[in-house]
Amino acid sequence: MIPSVRGTRDILPGEIERWQFVEDVSREVFELYGYAELRTPIIEREELFAKGTGETTDIVQKEMYAFTDKGGERVTLRPEATPSIVRAFVEHSLEQSMPVPKVYLIGPMFRYERPQKGRYRQFHQLDVEVFGVADPSIDGEIIDLAWTLVTRLGIENAEIVINSVGCPACRPRFSEALVEALGDDLSKLCGDCQRRAATNPLRIFDCKVPADQPIIDRLPHTVDFLCEACRAHFDAVQRYLALYGIPSRLSHRLVRGLDYYTRTTFEVLASNVGAQNALLGGGRYDGLVKELGGPDRVGIGFAAGLERLVLALPPAAGRVAGLSQAFVAAIGDRPRDAAFELVREFRLAGIRADIDYEGRSLRAQMKRADRLAAPLVLIIGDDELGRGQVKVKDMRTGDQTDVARSEVLAFVRARATDTAGAGGVGLRP
Ligand code: AMP
Repeated sequence: MIPSVRGTRDILPGEIERWQFVEDVSREVFELYGYAELRTPIIEREELFAKGTGETTDIVQKEMYAFTDKGGERVTLRPEATPSIVRAFVEHSLEQSMPVPKVYLIGPMFRYERPQKGRYRQFHQLDVEVFGVADPSIDGEIIDLAWTLVTRLGIENAEIVINSVGCPACRPRFSEALVEALGDDLSKLCGDCQRRAATNPLRIFDCKVPADQPIIDRLPHTVDFLCEACRAHFDAVQRYLALYGIPSRLSHRLVRGLDYYTRTTFEVLASNVGAQNALLGGGRYDGLVKELGGPDRVGIGFAAGLERLVLALPPAAGRVAGLSQAFVAAIGDRPRDAAFELVREFRLAGIRADIDYEGRSLRAQMKRADRLAAPLVLIIGDDELGRGQVKVKDMRTGDQTDVARSEVLAFVRARATDTAGAGGVGLRP
């Protein structure tokens, strides 16, 4: 057997219903807020992320699945969606066709990280982005959207943490203060942090080395160094959250692992999914579109990890499985053709129907119907065929009725409507 690649996983029937539930609810919520779906390729030029996500980030330095293709071009599997969406926004001048470009994307991302619970090398994100709105009301909308999503999924005990990382006008002052505050402690930090102090001090907050944490916890806070405009923006964002009654907590270390963030950053954390507890994270990226060669447009968005949302769901959540509504059993050779015909008729009429393919005994067929939990079993033997009838057995009550062949579809339709497994979305009873 050739096993799957480390850090990747199969999502099988039984679990997939929870994924479908998350995807269905997400699409519903995104569309309620006026976001349109977009899909971009999984493969992009490596430089898109070097430039977009940032040369000094862990993602670009350590985690990209980048390679030279047969044509000699440097490409990579996308490690995140924002730079791809920005590229598409610019490449297709989306602001021409959309009054306020508000988009979402659902798909796989790839990062060469150490796999553990809630962390994979191929994982899936729901990504939401808006372009061209500088007003803090959109920060409020985006955080509200994230919170509504988590709430509608039935996820409990989650919390929102927010911060502001300032802008190119005030951040240099903060970076200086950071290095100054570190002083002699800098030599006690890990090699990565020493490198970060020289290239991009803000990234020190991404450090996960346990021994470094007490030193990092004592460092200055970004919010104390905001310029007037950033301060006013952040105050306004918090006012919107208060207006909507959305709880949030200020987290000074929340700088997120990517270079493009300006002003608002936020995450939603869950308490029941283990160490990898960030369900989603995002923020504002006012310089990124221009940085990637587009017009000078601001942007804001977030990405949620599907694996982690699925982990955080209540146990009973899931799309109700598309179980069989009717099972058709045949006794003998001639009735088999009639049974296949009937199954096909049901399916084309929108009734989920199944059959046994191997021409086995009635007993074996009833067993399969039972495993499929089909509430109705239709039996056709030579007798029924001769009389132009079908025997319908209601497995819930044990009742049997002979129904004229021409009436069978209407009969089953009337009884199938009240069966479980109507393909709906919701919490299982
Ligand atoms: P990021 O793009 O790093 O801000 O991550 C946004 C969200 O994607 C996180 O909050 C996680 O839910 C999810 N995520 C990021 N990396 C992984 C991973 N390696 N495995 C699973 N989920 C991930």
